[in-house]
Amino acid sequence: MSRIESVLTRIEPHLPPGAIVTDENERKTYECDGLAVHRTVPALVIRVTSTAEVALTVGACHEFDVPFVARGSGTGLSGGAQPHAEGVLIVMSTMRDILDIDPLAQRAIVQPGVINLNLSNEANPGGYYFAPDPSSQSVCSIGGNVAENSGGAHCLKYGFTTNHVTGVTLVTARGDIVEIGGDAPEYPGYDLLGVLCGSEGTLGIVTEVTVRLTRLPEAVETLLIGFESTDAAGEAVSDIISAGIMPAAIEMMDALAIEAAEKAVACNYPEGAGAVLVVELDGPAIDVDLERETVIARAKDHGAGEIRVAVDNVERGLIWKGRKSAFAAVGRISPDYIVQDGVIPRSRLGPVLASISTIAEECGVRVANVFHAGDGTLH
Ligand SMILES: Cc1cc2nc3c(=O)[nH]c(=O)nc-3n(C[C@H](O)[C@H](O)[C@H](O)COP(=O)(O)OP(=O)(O)OC[C@H]3O[C@@H](n4cnc5c(N)ncnc54)[C@H](O)[C@@H]3O)c2cc1C
Repeated sequence: MSRIESVLTRIEPHLPPGAIVTDENERKTYECDGLAVHRTVPALVIRVTSTAEVALTVGACHEFDVPFVARGSGTGLSGGAQPHAEGVLIVMSTMRDILDIDPLAQRAIVQPGVINLNLSNEANPGGYYFAPDPSSQSVCSIGGNVAENSGGAHCLKYGFTTNHVTGVTLVTARGDIVEIGGDAPEYPGYDLLGVLCGSEGTLGIVTEVTVRLTRLPEAVETLLIGFESTDAAGEAVSDIISAGIMPAAIEMMDALAIEAAEKAVACNYPEGAGAVLVVELDGPAIDVDLERETVIARAKDHGAGEIRVAVDNVERGLIWKGRKSAFAAVGRISPDYIVQDGVIPRSRLGPVLASISTIAEECGVRVANVFHAGDGTLH
C-alpha cells in the first residue's frame, strides 16, 4: 500500500461523503493558486468542515510521512497553496461559518474559510467592520489573510491582519489541536500570534480565528485627484503625510494602470491624467472636513488637475472599483503579465518610479504601477 493509500484508509471512515476528492479532473482544479505559472496536481484533496477533520487528516499525514498543504481561496500570489504531487491538499474554503459577532466586545469568531468581505457585510449593521482589506477581499479567506498577514489600502491607518487577530485554534503539523490567544487584546508570554500571522501555513493550520472588529467611522470621504505625472502625485503624497494627516488610504495609479482599469470597469477616472491618487479620509465629521481642505490644498501645490470628492456611496464604490480591479484589468491590455510586490520608503517614490520607467524602456516591457502610496508598497 502506498503512503497516500495508508492516509486514505485511516481517514476515510471518519469523513462525510464528498470530503475526499480522488478523481483526477477534480484534483486538477486545485493545481495552482494565483501564481499560475507553477502547477502541480495533488495526490489527494480533502475538503474539511471542522477542526476535528483537520486534526484527523494532518495526524494521518504525520503518521505516514505524507506532505500536506492548506488552501484557502487560492488567491495567493506567491505559490503558498501550491500542492505537493505526492501530498494531500487540505481545502479550508469549506469551513466558512461566522460563529459569533459580539459588537459589545468588538470581536468576531470565524471559521478560516470565511470570505474577508462577508465578515464586514455581516458586522456592518451593528456598526462594525473587519479592517484588513486586501484588494482580493471579495474572494480571499480570513485563514489565508492570517497565513499571509495580508494588508490592503486601509492598512496605512489601521494596520495589517496581525493587528486584528487576537486568538486562533491551530492544528499543528503533528495533528495536535492548540489554542493561542483568545478574545483579550494581549496575553502574557511569547507573542505566538505575531509569529503565526504571516507564517504561510508552515506552523500549522488555523481552524478558528477570533478577530477584532473596528467601529465604522462617523464620516468617510473619498477623493480622486488627477496629476500630470507620478512624480507630482508622489510629492503630493509626501506633503499630505508631512502635514500631519493620516488618511485611511492613499493609493496611486499611473497612466497605464488607469488605461487598464478604464477598459475593464469604466471607472471614469480623469481623462489624460499621468497619475491619479485615491485618498480616503475617515473619522469624526469635523476632522474629515478639515483634512479634506488640507489634502486639496497640498494636491494643488503639486499641480493637481481634476479633483473629485465622491458625493455618495455609488461614486465612492466606482472610484474604488477602478483601483481594486487594477491587477486583473491589466489582462485587458496584455495577454500575459506578471505582478511584483515591493516596499520602498515613501519619500523615495519619485526616484524609484523614474528607475522603473528607465529599466522598462531598456528591457522593452510595459510596466503599469499601482500602489499603496501611503506606505510605499509598489505593485
Ligand atoms: C487580484 C488580487 C489582489 C490581491 N491583493 C492583495 C492585497 O492587496 N494585499 C495582500 O496582502 N494580498 C493580496 N493578494 C494576495 C492574496 O489574496 C492574499 O494573500 C490572501 O490573504 C490569500 O488568501 P487565500 O484565502 O486566497 O489564501 P490561499 O492563496 O489559499 O493561501 C495562501 C497561504 O495561506 C495558507 N493558508 C490558507 N488557509 C490557511 C489556514 N486556514 N491555515 C493555515 N494556512 C493557511 C496556504 O497554505 C498558503 O500558504 C491579492 C491577490 C489577488 C489575486
